[in-house]
Amino acid sequence: MSGEESRTGSREPGRRLIIIAIDGPAGAGKSTIARRLARHFGLLNLETGAMYRAFALKALRAGLPLDDSLALERLAAETAIRLEPGDEENRVLLDGEDITGLIRNQTVTDAASRVSVFPAIRAWMVRLQQRLGASGGVVMEGRDIGTVVFPKADVKIFLDAAPEVRGQRRFDQLGQKGAPAVQPEEVIRDLRARDERDRNRADSPLRPAADAVLLDSTEMTLEEAVRAAQAIVEAKLKPSEPVS
Ligand code: C5P
Repeated sequence: MSGEESRTGSREPGRRLIIIAIDGPAGAGKSTIARRLARHFGLLNLETGAMYRAFALKALRAGLPLDDSLALERLAAETAIRLEPGDEENRVLLDGEDITGLIRNQTVTDAASRVSVFPAIRAWMVRLQQRLGASGGVVMEGRDIGTVVFPKADVKIFLDAAPEVRGQRRFDQLGQKGAPAVQPEEVIRDLRARDERDRNRADSPLRPAADAVLLDSTEMTLEEAVRAAQAIVEAKLKPSEPVS
């Protein structure tokens, strides 16, 4: 994985590098906040959703039914996914092919949500993600980072916002990227469907870890949410006051 230098820069030798876990539903602002935290604290930013998206793209290309868990498992066994942290977004390599620009459309988004319910697929992804973050110095964002991937993360933030607000943000984002016209209601409907699948799957459902700090950005601008997240990290990392 590239970007190894930034793992060690400006750190005291021998000191364990931190792991920040950011979880939450779609459209809560996780990617932006994770990216900004990574930049601010000199960490690598790893988007685990991009890995599920990469695998979904491969399943779509192979024409597999997205509910055939055995076929998906077999496909996973012959799939290599790599994430390379970047300033803006992660570069995603599927079997060596750069597919970064191919995984944000609606078809792949929906497929990622479907293939990610299967325990064998999740176990494989979790192993990859644990390996990626093992030496620390990362902000990792997803749905199960604080609960399953890194249950001992130094800082856990569960980021949420009202579904209508998340839907509107996603709609605005799609507009900025020049995506084909859809109605905001459609985006909200899709977001709710994905949420429901994430929250209700049997294996590692989306939920805050018991020790996560909840950050609800419904009433916040993105800038305010970024500052709130920074404050949470700073408070967590501050050495505790000696007890007298
Ligand atoms: O975060 P993003 O929207 O890119 O994730 C795509 C899909 O991958 C989500 O809808 C979710 O179902 C799944 N996912 C997951 N666990 C993660 C990250 C993403 O199940 N840690």
